[in-house]
Amino acid sequence: ELKAARRSATGPGRLADGTPIPLLANLGSADGAADALEKGAEGVGLFRTEFLFLDAASAPSVEEQKAQYLRLLEAFAGKKVVVRALDAGADKPLSFLNDAPEENPALGLRGLRALRANEPILRDQLTALAQADAESDAEVWVMAPMVSTVEETRYFTALAREVGLKTAGVMVEVPSSALLADRILADADFASIGTNDLTQYTLAADRLLGSVASFQDPWHPAVLKLVGEVGAAGHATGKPVGICGEAAADPLLAVVLVGLGATTLSMSPSALADVRAELARFTLDDARRFADLALSADSAVEARAAVTAAATAAA
Ligand code: PEP
Ligand code: MG
Repeated sequence: ELKAARRSATGPGRLADGTPIPLLANLGSADGAADALEKGAEGVGLFRTEFLFLDAASAPSVEEQKAQYLRLLEAFAGKKVVVRALDAGADKPLSFLNDAPEENPALGLRGLRALRANEPILRDQLTALAQADAESDAEVWVMAPMVSTVEETRYFTALAREVGLKTAGVMVEVPSSALLADRILADADFASIGTNDLTQYTLAADRLLGSVASFQDPWHPAVLKLVGEVGAAGHATGKPVGICGEAAADPLLAVVLVGLGATTLSMSPSALADVRAELARFTLDDARRFADLALSADSAVEARAAVTAAATAAA
């Protein structure tokens, strides 16, 4: 048992029955690459590209972007790197992309909607990424933020494939996408669930507003039910379903997410060790049992308590 614990502290993500659950890093620039690798990241599950655009009066050139992408891809040679297209709007305002004042920015022209309204920016970003991909040995996947319809999925994947990117997927951050995940995955190569936004939109509680912060809890059974929809769609279509929101960094919740069908987990590198250790304590059957317990709870608090009790009894 000691040997298993030691192996799990450094090796790839695995359940106690040997089921691999690759553990990936969320990164906001290439600067964190070395640290993530040192902590055992098996790849990058969410590369946030907003840093390239923040404080800029206009979008960076294809050449500038390509250089930044190459920095990251070279650090992760031979590994999977999931790059998210620019996610502007709401909690990530960018004046040059989306400057019309909005009453409800979280429900406005944000994410893929804002990119689509500024298609040359999206096309340049995808082109820069395709060029970097062609010059590196990393396995590049690209995904769109804030997708809410099947039609948006088709639009994004078609454009990504047109510029030469081979693996195109979408983030599931809006209940409509979770509910239609089977149809979204008929087109997209993969889905990655952003639990921060999915929780915000499911509970109708602004993720930045302190007065409603208690609603922003991804243990909520309504959120988990939507995650389960996506997991089932991934299973039915044979396509990967990742989690890249903060929920994946909560060790016990990570086990529940796997029980709901997540095939990879991506998180801040500082969370990797604890999540790796927790996954190694439980089998896929345990994870599914915990997921059922959480789904049948009436609240986030009850879900967490029920799974905590079952985990204590099982381990
Ligand atoms: C999320 O919404 O869960 C997510 C990963 O994206 P961000 O936090 O950047 O909105
Ligand atoms: Mg998000």
